[in-house]
Amino acid sequence: MPDIEKFNGTGNPTSHVRHIINTLKPMGLNDELIAQLFQRTLTGSALDWFLTLDFTTYKGWQEIANAFINQYAYNVQIEVTTRDLEMLKQKPNESFANFLTRWRKKAAQMKTLPSEEDQVRIVVRNLQPQFLRHIYSQAISTFKCLYATGLQVEDGLNQGLLDNGEVSHKVETSTNTNNDSGITMVRSHHKRKMEFVPLGMKLEDVFHILETTGNLKPLQPKFPSNFAQKVGEYCKYHQVTGHSIEQCGALKNAVQDLIDQGIVDPTKLDC
Ligand SMILES: [Zn+2]
Repeated sequence: MPDIEKFNGTGNPTSHVRHIINTLKPMGLNDELIAQLFQRTLTGSALDWFLTLDFTTYKGWQEIANAFINQYAYNVQIEVTTRDLEMLKQKPNESFANFLTRWRKKAAQMKTLPSEEDQVRIVVRNLQPQFLRHIYSQAISTFKCLYATGLQVEDGLNQGLLDNGEVSHKVETSTNTNNDSGITMVRSHHKRKMEFVPLGMKLEDVFHILETTGNLKPLQPKFPSNFAQKVGEYCKYHQVTGHSIEQCGALKNAVQDLIDQGIVDPTKLDC
């Protein structure tokens, strides 16, 4: 048996067949012998595939070669490149797990995959911004770690524990189709925007007072202790790092709720 590079399930199947014929025919081998030797030019998943063939259906060398070329025609049609992987982005409403699966399926079609670390880097860059802002700065080099972190971030986002980057805002659209009756203002409030009563002191101090009076308690962090938290300042209210308590929207809302309910009088806040 001459030295023929084995086909492992990747690469161009037509080239492989042509290579076999070009090598074996000049040696005087007939189709029957070539068909018999063909198995020995396969390895890995290609060999597995070959062994599942029903040889009552595939009789001659031509039939086997055609089945082989059809089976692996996909390899040639889709030449997946790093560029393709870089273009494969998470869709706005796609779950983290679904995106990762979709991305890895695509990557599996590539002949020479980038290193795992490089793949992870591409995946992270292609995440939706609300994921990216919590994952990007973390040193993740394996899919195992990325998967665990991604799911935790997704949980955090779904539970409102992690900032999803949405700015609460009012969208005002105006239509002035009828200028005689003035401009028709269409207001849509995408998110309730709270008006915050000025407190006259640092939010941290307000929190300290309300914690002492028993009106507020720090939130229970819902992440496992080994969860790599965002780098940044510590928020005493959320008990996580990543934002300063002075910027804590949830605390501002909680304080304002207490004021709205008449439980706390903002003019009487004092240490
Ligand atoms: Zn906070």
